[in-house]
Amino acid sequence: MKERVYLFDTTLRDGAQTTGVDFSLHDKVVIAKMLDKLGVDYIEGGYPGANPLDTAFFAKDQGLSSRFAAFGMTKRAGVSASNDPGVASLLDAKSDTITFVAKSWDFHVHTALGCTLEENLDGIRESITLAVSRGREAILDCEHFFDGYKANPDYALACARTALEAGARWVVLCDTNGGTLPEEIGRITTEVAKTVPGDHLGIHAHDDTGNAVANSLAAIRAGARHIQGTLNGLGERCGNANLVTLIPIFKLKPELADHYEIGVGDGALATLTQVSRTFDELLNRQPRRQAPFVGAAAFATKAGIHASAVLKDPRTYEHVPPESVGNRRQVLVSTQAGKSNVVAELERLGITIARDDPRLARLLETVKDKEAQGYAYEGADASFFLLAQSVLGRVPEYFKVERFKVNVERRHNAMGDLVTFSEATVKVVVDGEELISAAEGDGPVNALDRALRKDLGRYQRHIEKLRLSDFRVRIFEGGTDAVTRVLVESTDETGESWTTVGVSPNIIDASFQALTDSIVYKLMREGVRA
Ligand SMILES: [Zn+2]
Repeated sequence: MKERVYLFDTTLRDGAQTTGVDFSLHDKVVIAKMLDKLGVDYIEGGYPGANPLDTAFFAKDQGLSSRFAAFGMTKRAGVSASNDPGVASLLDAKSDTITFVAKSWDFHVHTALGCTLEENLDGIRESITLAVSRGREAILDCEHFFDGYKANPDYALACARTALEAGARWVVLCDTNGGTLPEEIGRITTEVAKTVPGDHLGIHAHDDTGNAVANSLAAIRAGARHIQGTLNGLGERCGNANLVTLIPIFKLKPELADHYEIGVGDGALATLTQVSRTFDELLNRQPRRQAPFVGAAAFATKAGIHASAVLKDPRTYEHVPPESVGNRRQVLVSTQAGKSNVVAELERLGITIARDDPRLARLLETVKDKEAQGYAYEGADASFFLLAQSVLGRVPEYFKVERFKVNVERRHNAMGDLVTFSEATVKVVVDGEELISAAEGDGPVNALDRALRKDLGRYQRHIEKLRLSDFRVRIFEGGTDAVTRVLVESTDETGESWTTVGVSPNIIDASFQALTDSIVYKLMREGVRA
C-alpha cells in the first residue's frame, strides 16, 4: 500500500513575490485551471483582504477540483480572532482551506511582531480554532521554522503542537530564508514528527542553496506528507521548490514511486512539458532550456557517439523516457519517438491519425522548419491544430487577405494635445467578392484586429463575439536578424479561449498571422464550411 503525498501549489501566492511577475486576475484564473487539470491537491490563490485583486479572485467560487486555499496571517495580539479584520477577510473568502502563517522563531516574535511568545501561540490557537469551527480546513505555515528550531527548539515545537491541537490539518515547516541543507532538514523534520505525526506535516522549501527539491525530498523521507512548491520554481529570490521537477520524481523514480502516490495521473504527467512552457509563455519568459525533465535540452543529445547509442537504445543516455513527461528526444526528429510524441499531441487536440500515415513525417518536418523560424507551439495549441490540419489538407480556405495597410500617426489634435492615432485597412476576398474594411484602434494591432473582423461576409456572424483577451510579444535573435514572436489569446461567447502564434521580423505581420489563425480556428471549431 503506497502512502499518499499531497502537493500544495503556491505559484499564485508565494510565486507572485517574484520580481517582475504581476499576475492579472485573468492570469490567476487561467493558471488555477491549469494546475487543477494537472492534479495538484491544493491551489493557494493569494492573500484576500491584502489587495483588491486577490479579494476579487476569492469573491467567487472558482469551481476547482483541487482544494482552493486562501493565505493570511493569524490574528494579531490584543484582539480576538473573530474581531480581527485580516482573519475576517479569510473567512469571507470563497475557499476550502485557509493557510495561516505565523512566526515560529522566538527572535522574530519579539522583534518583528513585538508581542509575547504566549500571545503568538494564542494567535495560532484562536485563528485555527475559529476557521475549523466555520467548517474550513486549516493549515499553519510555520515561518522561519528551521532557523527558529535551531535557536529555540522548544518554542518552535510549541507553535507546531499548538496548531495541531487546535485542529490544523497540516503543520508546514517553512525554510523561509532557504539556507538550510537537506541533512539538517531531514534531522529536524524527524524530531518534529515525534510531536506532529508525518501525515499532518508539510515542507515549504526555498531554493537559495539550489536544494529546494532535495530539501523537500529529505522532509518526505523524514515522515512529512505535504510539499509546497510552485510551477517552474517561481518565487522570491532564487525561487521555491519546483513542482515541475518534483512531480516526475514522484512518478518516475522507483525510490519514491514505489512508496508514494501523488494526485497527478500518468496522463497529466505527459502534459507536464506543455504546462511548464505555457506557464513561461504566460509570464513572457524564455523557457529554461536546461530545466530538469521539461527543458528543451533535457533529452537533447549532440550528434556523435552519444546520439548513435541513444538511437540504438534510448536507455543508454536517458534516465527516463522523454515522452513520459511530454518532452521530446532531440537527436533525429524523424525517429519513432518523435512520431509518437506528435501523435500524442494530436490526440490531445482531438485529431486522430494513424502512426504509419505518411503525412505524419511531413508534419514533423513542417514543425521542425517552423520551430527553426522561431515558432513555439507549446503555448499556442490553436496554431498547432491548424498547422496539423493544413498538412492533413483539412483547413478550408474561408477567406483570403489580399492586402492590409496600417497607419500610425502622432500629431497635435485641435486641443493642442499630442495624440497617437492608429488605423488599418484590410482587403479580403470571400467567395470571389472583395470586401474592404477600415478601422481605428488603440494601437496598430488593435486597429488591424478590428478591421480584419469588421466584415468577413457570410462568416461574420460566427466571429461577432470573438475578442482578443491577451497579447504577448517576445523579440529574440533568430539567425542574423531580430525575430518577433506574437502570441494572441482569444475568447468567445462560450468562455472558451485559445492561443495562436505568429512569427516575423515585423511585429505587425507577426500579429496579423496570429489574428488570422485565431479567426480560422474559431470558424473550424464551429464546423463552418467554406
Ligand atoms: Zn515562501
